Amino acid sequence: MIFLICTGNEMYTTAERLFPLSRSITGDGTRLTLKILQELLPELKIYGIPSGTRCFDWIVPLEWNITDAYILDASGKKIVDFKQNNLHVMGYSIPIDAIVDYTELNKHLYSLPCQPDAIPYVTSYYSPQWGFCITQHQRDSLRDGKYKVVIKSTLAEGILNYGEIVIPGQSEKEILLSTYICHPSLANDNISGIIMTTYLAKWILHQPRRYTYRILFIPETIGAIVYLSKHHEQMKEKVIAGFVITCCADNGDFSFMPSKGGQSLADNVARHVLKWNTKEFREYSFLERGSDERQYCSPGIDLPVVSIMRSMYRMYPEYHTSLDNLSFISAEAFRESFSIYCKCLNAIEKNNKYRVNCLCEPQLGKRGLFSQISMKNNYLGDSRDLLNVFMYCDGTLDLIEIANQTNLPIERVIKIADILTKAELISVNHY
Ligand code: ZN
Repeated sequence: MIFLICTGNEMYTTAERLFPLSRSITGDGTRLTLKILQELLPELKIYGIPSGTRCFDWIVPLEWNITDAYILDASGKKIVDFKQNNLHVMGYSIPIDAIVDYTELNKHLYSLPCQPDAIPYVTSYYSPQWGFCITQHQRDSLRDGKYKVVIKSTLAEGILNYGEIVIPGQSEKEILLSTYICHPSLANDNISGIIMTTYLAKWILHQPRRYTYRILFIPETIGAIVYLSKHHEQMKEKVIAGFVITCCADNGDFSFMPSKGGQSLADNVARHVLKWNTKEFREYSFLERGSDERQYCSPGIDLPVVSIMRSMYRMYPEYHTSLDNLSFISAEAFRESFSIYCKCLNAIEKNNKYRVNCLCEPQLGKRGLFSQISMKNNYLGDSRDLLNVFMYCDGTLDLIEIANQTNLPIERVIKIADILTKAELISVNHY
């Protein structure tokens, strides 16, 4: 098992490449992002859904593109420039080219008084309006007078794009990985999720696979709804565990967003891996959900989807501001989060329920197991571990539940189950 086919540095370098692009739920920046991902993952298929397509209670909006935007003061000086930072324009702003006075301009400005150096990330996908997002310092420096406001954007019939890779395994049962591609220059939320999902896909492609992997790069909310409207029946039948991958490369402690039920395989494996591989992690309530688990876990869809994050969206001050930039994420955090995700996927791949093949404790000595496991420094260590795992092979508990019952890490329980299986003391309980 090679956990790290890539380095955190490589992931960070790719994040630097994607960071500047002006993404939204539709448009050229998002398309270019998918094209770059396709360079890294030639298996990625890019799909397009036309504006106006009805998906459950939603309609795919017009495609939004933007080439430039700025504010000039009365002297002609450019005081706000989209080309300096794409967060300066409210996402989905309608075009404008006008002279406005200060009072009118002020109605279209967004800033954060509590974070005077930060440009907020603001969108208005479904209510046509224009707006500029600036720092509070910039706003405080504005005076009465005339301003020229220019937003060179278009809203027109077009398409909503998303990317999908299906990597077949021995089984048709699926593991879902889903990330979102609609945020512009914001690093933890969510360049980090795009990069993590890309490198996990590259890793999965090189692993022996029991399960099939459905890996999605979609615009948040509308993309998930579009995708589910086409695939939910198949996904309900096949997906055994899913992860919304987001906010995974800042240096904060790990966070966990459970599925709605909180007791699925994905929940169990995530909690277990986080418990054994992090100093500490914080589990949030599903009531604090914020990403595409809102769709995946909704009634009638009911997929077992969780999120493993570092600092969770909304919970860190830099969230949805220009302070969530490349200096807020790190190669080391990428590496650590990647390792956690690989451990989860590996645990799911190896997870089974077992039943014993003999009643009462087996005689380990005659199988050469007792002497082997009683050796000092042997990886099995105490024979108690082996007998403890055996004790819970009652056909109802899976290895992750047994790992929790026996207070052992899942990797160790997998190895012990392998040894007990080879000794014909336990068998997979096919049910
Ligand atoms: Zn966000």
